[in-house]
Amino acid sequence: MSRRPFRVGRSKTGLGLFATEPIKKGQFLAYYRGPKITAAESEKREARGNRYLYEINSRWVIDGSPRYNIARYGNHSCRPNAETDVRGHKVLIRTIKNIKPGEEITYHYGKNYFDIYLRPIGCKCDKCIEKRRKERSAKIAETKRRKALEARKAAKLAANGVAASGDAAKAVQSSSIVASVLSDKKTALSKSSQAKKVKKTRAKATTTKTASKSKAAKAKASKAKVSKAKALKTTSKTKAGAAKAKTRTKSGSTRTAASKSKSRATKR
Ligand SMILES: [Zn+2]
Repeated sequence: MSRRPFRVGRSKTGLGLFATEPIKKGQFLAYYRGPKITAAESEKREARGNRYLYEINSRWVIDGSPRYNIARYGNHSCRPNAETDVRGHKVLIRTIKNIKPGEEITYHYGKNYFDIYLRPIGCKCDKCIEKRRKERSAKIAETKRRKALEARKAAKLAANGVAASGDAAKAVQSSSIVASVLSDKKTALSKSSQAKKVKKTRAKATTTKTASKSKAAKAKASKAKVSKAKALKTTSKTKAGAAKAKTRTKSGSTRTAASKSKSRATKR
C-alpha cells in the first residue's frame, strides 16, 4: 500500500476522499485506523462530541479521530460507492462500484449513526439532496395542482352559488352586451331604414295631405252646399218672419190706435 488511488479534498460538507485514478469495484482502499477502546469508554467520548467511533462488536470500538486515520475523511452516503467491512478487530474500506477519477468516495456510516446524527439535521449526501429536491418539486407541483383545483372549484361555486343574483347579473350583462350589439346593428340598420322611412313618410304625408286637401275641399264643398241650403232656408224663414211681424205690427198699431181712441173717448 505504497500509493493511494485517492486523496483528501474539499467536499460539500468539508473534506472528503476523491479518486485520483479509476478504481475498480471491490478494491481495498484503507483501514479505519485508531485506538481500540471499550464500549463504555466509547460512550464517554461520544458524549464529549467524538463522531469517529466505529463499533467492531458489542464490547469493542475503534476511535478513528486521529488525523492519521485517512478513512475518517470519507463522507457518509445513503448511495455509497464504498463500504466498511469488519475483519476480526480491524475495519477496512473497499469499493463496491467502479469509481472514476475525481469522483468522491463515500460509504454508509451505519443506521445508528444516521438516525442519531444525520437524520435530525438532514443528510447532505447526493441521494438525500436529490430526494429532497424531488420531494420539494413534487410538493410545489402538488400545491400548484391543489391551488388550480381550488381555483376551479371556487369559479364553479361562484358560477353556481351566485346563480340567483350573480347569474342574473351575468345574464343581464350578457343580454345587455347582446342588446348593445343588436342595437348597434339596429342603429346601423335603422339609420339606413330611417332614411328610407323618412322618404316614405314624406311621401305618405304628401299623399295624405293631398288626400286630406281633397277631402277637406269636398267636405267644404258639401258644407257650403249645406250652408247655402240652410242659408236659403233661413232667409226664407226670416223673410216669412219679417212679413209676419209686419203684419202683426200693422195690426198692433191699428189696435193701439183703436185703444187710444177708446181711452180718449172714456176721458171725455
Ligand atoms: Zn443520505
